[in-house]
Amino acid sequence: MKLGLVALVLVVAIALVIVSTQTGERQVSLVVTNGIVVTMDGGGRVIGNGAVAVDGSDIVAVDTAEAIQRQYRGTETVDAGGQVVLPGLINTHTHAPMVLYRGLADDLALMEWLTKYMFPAEAKTVSPEFVRAGTRLAALEMIQSGTTTYTDMYYFEEEIAKETKAAGLRGVLGQTVIQFPVADAKTPADALARAEAFITAFKGDPLITPAVAPHAMYTLDGATLMAARDLSMRHGVPTLIHVAETRDEVKIAQDQYKASPVGYLDGLGFLGPGVVAAHGVWVSAPEIAMLKQRGVGVSHNPESNMKLASGTAPVPGYLAAGVAIGLGTDGAASNNDLDMFEAMRTASLLHKLQTGDPRAVGARTALEMATMGGARALGMGDRIGSLEPGKRADLIVVSMNSARQTPMYDPISHLVYTTHGDDVRTTIVHGKVLMKDRKVLTLNEASVLSDARGWAEKVRAAVR
Ligand SMILES: [Zn+2]
Repeated sequence: MKLGLVALVLVVAIALVIVSTQTGERQVSLVVTNGIVVTMDGGGRVIGNGAVAVDGSDIVAVDTAEAIQRQYRGTETVDAGGQVVLPGLINTHTHAPMVLYRGLADDLALMEWLTKYMFPAEAKTVSPEFVRAGTRLAALEMIQSGTTTYTDMYYFEEEIAKETKAAGLRGVLGQTVIQFPVADAKTPADALARAEAFITAFKGDPLITPAVAPHAMYTLDGATLMAARDLSMRHGVPTLIHVAETRDEVKIAQDQYKASPVGYLDGLGFLGPGVVAAHGVWVSAPEIAMLKQRGVGVSHNPESNMKLASGTAPVPGYLAAGVAIGLGTDGAASNNDLDMFEAMRTASLLHKLQTGDPRAVGARTALEMATMGGARALGMGDRIGSLEPGKRADLIVVSMNSARQTPMYDPISHLVYTTHGDDVRTTIVHGKVLMKDRKVLTLNEASVLSDARGWAEKVRAAVR
């Protein structure tokens, strides 16, 4: 009798376990379900009616909606019916607070634009309060347009980091080092000390990767370039730099050092893993092979390069050589927005025109650059860039219901050739919902916009 009771209890217990498994009893924090899931994983898997289970900061499963429903129950659920779920977009080069200079000076070449407008405007307006207001505005725009990780080079980077964390975005944030006196540093030595303090304060942060950002080879001497590189190597953090952006830069390198910008930097011993080179426009085929060999990541910024008529980066060459290459918007003053969907579309169209080959930079390649390519360029390919178990839960949900998106034969075609940032409905970073159905939850939209308009009055007065 006693034995029979034990057996009965066992049978009931086993039955309960089976039932609980079948009805999805593993409690997780979030399930995004019923969407077309574009994983961007190694196999390029697209799941027609798929779901992503998230627990805390991480993705725990990516599968059919039915399979996820069987195994997981989300404390929170996002219904992505009629929408596409994809990894959050990765902006590999921008200057976030420069959104406050958006449209201030257009239709100029880089050197004139920088020296006559941007550097003077910055000298008169950049302050901790300015970069905080600018970062809030940039963060709002990025969340609204599906960017989940961005790479920054600016001043008072610790203030940018605080606002980025408060907004819930992931950032690779580089404290600028530049030869002349700027708002946050009188000398390059001050800037390097500031960069080190910033790295120490944010190293190990779950959202912020601190970095050092020596501006460019033409705004720094060789000793300072190498001091910045040594600092980032000592702390194991990225080095962000503008490289071979314009013909003027090539001329400066040739006149001063009898070398190309890439050749000069390599001669210094600057190039190696952890370096993220923005632009890389004026780079020869042997230099592309060398960048690959050195493990340098490249950020392609097609809209900024086109607007400033800087030139066309040899992107098909980078891709063929297997260089880790991502997409960037550059600062909003030279773009003029932070919409990574536009960056994808422009990259694809630009290289078709440039090469005369409509197969160049196809839709999947452009989407790859904006996701996994960017992750690899930043040295974060193991953590972000695709929807796979074990990676951080950075994902977006994009509506495919408007007239513009109808009909849909191929979601990847739509994401690159049709989608605008405004089509993003929901943005999730590190497992946290930052925007749901276009309502941003981590920023007060009205006050962010009114602060920005207030700063614009000061900018206007400064450049008058
Ligand atoms: Zn830039």
